[in-house]
Amino acid sequence: MSHKAGPHFLQIPGPSNVPGRILRAIERPTIDHRGPDFQALACEVLEKVKPIFKTVEPVVIFPSSGTGAWEAALVNTLSPGDKVLMYETGQFANLWIELATRIGLDAEVIAGDWRTGVDASVIEERLSNDSQFEIKAVCIVHNETSTGVTSKIKSVRDAIDRAKHPALFMVDTISGLGSADYRHDEWGVDITISGSQKGLMLPPGLGFNAVSKKAVEASRHAKLTRSYWDWESQLANNPSGNFPYTPATNLLYGLVEACDMLMDEGLENVFARHERHAEAARRAVKAWGLEIQCAEPSEYSPVLTGVVMPDGHDADNLRAIILDKYNMSLGSGLGKVKGKVFRIGHLGDFNDLMLLGALSGVEMGLAVAGVPHSKGGVQAAIDFLTGNA
Ligand SMILES: *Cc1c(COP(=O)(O)O)cnc(C)c1O
Repeated sequence: MSHKAGPHFLQIPGPSNVPGRILRAIERPTIDHRGPDFQALACEVLEKVKPIFKTVEPVVIFPSSGTGAWEAALVNTLSPGDKVLMYETGQFANLWIELATRIGLDAEVIAGDWRTGVDASVIEERLSNDSQFEIKAVCIVHNETSTGVTSKIKSVRDAIDRAKHPALFMVDTISGLGSADYRHDEWGVDITISGSQKGLMLPPGLGFNAVSKKAVEASRHAKLTRSYWDWESQLANNPSGNFPYTPATNLLYGLVEACDMLMDEGLENVFARHERHAEAARRAVKAWGLEIQCAEPSEYSPVLTGVVMPDGHDADNLRAIILDKYNMSLGSGLGKVKGKVFRIGHLGDFNDLMLLGALSGVEMGLAVAGVPHSKGGVQAAIDFLTGNA
């Protein structure tokens, strides 16, 4: 392959760009994970990660992908055959449903249209009719990365409360944490599931479970088989700065740095930055005359924008051209929207000029690929970002 000058534009909605500050932290020598230096690191990182979830409860850290953290949430708290209420917001919700089914849970699925988020009233109605409390957990994806739709977590908590239902509340914010407003404690989430490679700006390789007291209590009676994912040994070892097996030491160096960066900027500023970039991206898409996959403006994702291709034009062809000509990766359409949707990630360590570079790459790609569109998307984004819209 011939050399390509300049940086690659990694504009998929995770993994996101890893900033130099984090890469430099990760490159430090790996140390003895049973020694005192590591214990200090572990105690520091286990505390520093809590405010990112807005929790005072423990956060369990696994050397894993987000998928592992999904599995951990389920196997620690549920028993074979338990009914779980899951909401199909898109492809990531579908993958979690598939996982739940495979490990022996009875997943009851509320179908979604992949263009809007969770309708809490449907959950409330279903739970209200479950007078025997057969449903043991409600499982929701916060930021559905396959569509660019962000569901309102508090509305689901309120629905569960109105139905006076004891089900555990599990939320996947693998692509939302550190980019979109999220509040584990305030929103009464029992298990928050996340991963390192999206809003946290780290390479892939860490999975997280923030766990409420109710979730820990449920884990004492849960009967699904678990070993690697067992919280008990984590929660017993973590307070002294230990892990039950070898942790991803170098990613933990990076995680300290990521938490410091997010807190230095201020979480609310981080969220506002993401909202602003998302709005600028949508202005560009609208100026191109293309459709946004998310059909509900109050659920637009601050993390990514899903763009619908005009009929007869293939999103993957456009993405291939943009990769080849402009060295930029965009997210593909997943599952049933494959070829029909492409996704622009605008998350993590990201600023105005990176966004404008990404949008320029899309606008040039649309022209080269012969996709019908209007010019001026980048200009619309500039006008918004400079307050001249
Ligand atoms: C990325 C992602 C996952 C899967 O995480 P992996 O690290 O690929 O296992 C799950 N859910 C959502 C919402 C995601 O964005």
